[in-house]
Order: sequence, then structure tokens, then C-alpha cells
Amino acid sequence: MPLSAPPPPPPATLRLIVDTRALAANWRTLDRLSGDAATGAAVKADCYGLGVAQCVPALREAGCGAFFVAHWSEAAIVARHVDPASIAVLHGVITSAEVDYAMASGIVPVVNSPEQARLWNERGGGRCHLMIDTGINRLGIAPADLGDPAVQALDIEIALSHLACADEESPMNARQLAAFRDALPRIAHRRASLANGAGIALGEGYAFDLTRPGLALYGGVPRDEMAEMIDPVAKIEAAILQVRDIAKGETVGYNAQYTAPHAMRVATVSLGYADGFLRARGRPGHAALHHADARLPILGKVSMDMIVVDLSAMPGLKEGDWLEVPFDLPRAALESGLSQYELLTTIGARLRQT
Ligand SMILES: *Cc1c(COP(=O)(O)O)cnc(C)c1O
Repeated sequence: MPLSAPPPPPPATLRLIVDTRALAANWRTLDRLSGDAATGAAVKADCYGLGVAQCVPALREAGCGAFFVAHWSEAAIVARHVDPASIAVLHGVITSAEVDYAMASGIVPVVNSPEQARLWNERGGGRCHLMIDTGINRLGIAPADLGDPAVQALDIEIALSHLACADEESPMNARQLAAFRDALPRIAHRRASLANGAGIALGEGYAFDLTRPGLALYGGVPRDEMAEMIDPVAKIEAAILQVRDIAKGETVGYNAQYTAPHAMRVATVSLGYADGFLRARGRPGHAALHHADARLPILGKVSMDMIVVDLSAMPGLKEGDWLEVPFDLPRAALESGLSQYELLTTIGARLRQT
């Protein structure tokens, strides 16, 4: 007997709600701030944890025409939604398999070194982008290597560089801008791109032909002056799995780290560190979930799939009721010690709709 397909699973007990209208509004805001430059989008790490399938079509419809990922595997997924020629792979090409895939797919590598340039040219290459390292010392060709014949032979669409300190006031920003300006005349290219999201706020001198925001699209605030302009995009909710009454002196969770000071009602909630709610977010005395106006403090350690909250503020809540996970990114970052980038990109796969 052939096995029949199992029925679709019931609705999940946790959910990520992505406000694609807010995402599109953030892209338009950043596009306006980019002045005459075009505005792309960093969509690496599954759109910073929010899901390519939801975010990339919304960005495309808003008018975005340039998409940046780190890995070829990510590019293949983004290419389901946009023209492959509009996708740039920041890690570049380090194997011939990657070159072959780039040529077969039409997805464009960002060449990062003379070695990558040689590999790309040897196999027929064609149109590519070039990352110039102006001081972050991460990926990219050193300005001193721009004269390398393999680099000079590239057909470069976009010459890029990346700012190390755009989210702070630092003399490094002006130094990198000057180094990029110096480098550009030394290599043929059609367009230039320097600013990430925070770099857009540094002024039009940083925008060149194309900006590349990421975090700010998804509701993060890389610089204080952007706080009023960026709309929140992600909302996370989790359901109560069980409610119990515990006596004074009983403990909650692994390693019995919380001891009830009096009899209390608690709820076990369907969210854990595997979903990206890391233990750093459950610091006793700080963190809480919410229901309407009620604040429900987290008790004890965050488990892989569960956390326990104090129901004192709303003892009538029951199994299946939904609680809201605070996701004001700048604030959650301050409280947890995690960066806004980490808070987004660690969102777990169980939360993402595909
Ligand atoms: C991730 C990334 C971006 C986007 O940066 P944000 O700080 O999220 O705006 C832009 N350019 C490059 C090269 C990146 O790696």
C-alpha cells in the first residue's frame, strides 16, 4: 500500500507576524534619504531572520532592484522572486563550482581579491561587482591591488566598499569615504556603492549611485536620528501551553533558579531559545511577555522550547491564549546585551512561514 501524504499540520503555537507594509514603507523612507542614489536591500540571512518569501516580494513591489546576500545558497532562494541579475553575492567566488553556478544562473558575484578575479576571468566570467576594502579589513580587494591585470580585466557593474563605523560618530567614516573616492578612478565601473543603512544617515556624500540598507528595512534603528522614521516590522507571539498553581518555596525551570516567594499562578509558553529567544533575553527581573497591558515577568531559565511566566497580573489567562513578545529592537538590545542584528537573525525557523 502506498503511503498517503500526512495531512497538513495544525496551526503553530508560536508565530512571527511580518508587517510587509511597514517593510515597504521603511524601504521608501531609506530611498528618499538616499537622495538621487538608487536603494537596494541586504536580504542575507533569510532577510535578517524575517523570511525571504515574505520580504523579497514586498521589497520588489516597493521598487527595489538590487539585492545583496552572503551565500550562493541564499541567492538561489532569492532568485525565486527577482531577476537573478539583480542579486549580488557578497562572499564572491572561491571555487570553480561557484563560478559555474554564477554563469549558469545569471546571479552576480562580488569579486573580493585578485585570486577571485583570476578564477572568474579564467572561466569566462563576464559582468561582476567588485568589493574594495577601504579599512574594515574583512572582505574586499586592497586598493594597492587594483592595478592587478586580472582585476583590471573585470567587467565591473558596481564598485563597492563597506563602512566599519557608520553607526557611530567616528573619523573612520570620513577616512573610508576618502579612500573610496581615491580608489574609484583607478578601476573601470558603471556604478559605485558605499552606504549601508547607517551610512545613509551620514549624508548624500556617502550615497554614490546605490545604497544597501539592511537592518533599518526590518525595523532596526542603526542610528538614533533614524528612530522616528523607521517603523517596526516584526511581531512575535506565543501561546500558553499550560497553566499551573505553585506553592511558596517551589522552583521553576532548569537548575531551579527561580523560587516562588509565595503561592502563585504561572504559565508555560511555547517559545524558547531554539526560536531565537535566547537566554540573554530572559534575564530575571528584566524580561517579561505581555498580554494587552499586563506585564508577565519571565521566571527561571529559558528552555529550548518553553519559557515560564508569572500570571499574577492576569490570572484568568488559559491554555491557547496568545502572549506578545516585546520586540522593540533598540530597547530589547539594551536590555539583553545582544545587538539588534542578533535579535533579528537568531529568529528560529519554527517561527518563519515559508
Ligand atoms: C550586511 C551588509 C549591508 C547592510 O548593512 P546594515 O548595517 O544592515 O544596513 C550592506 N553592505 C554589506 C556589504 C553588508 O555585508
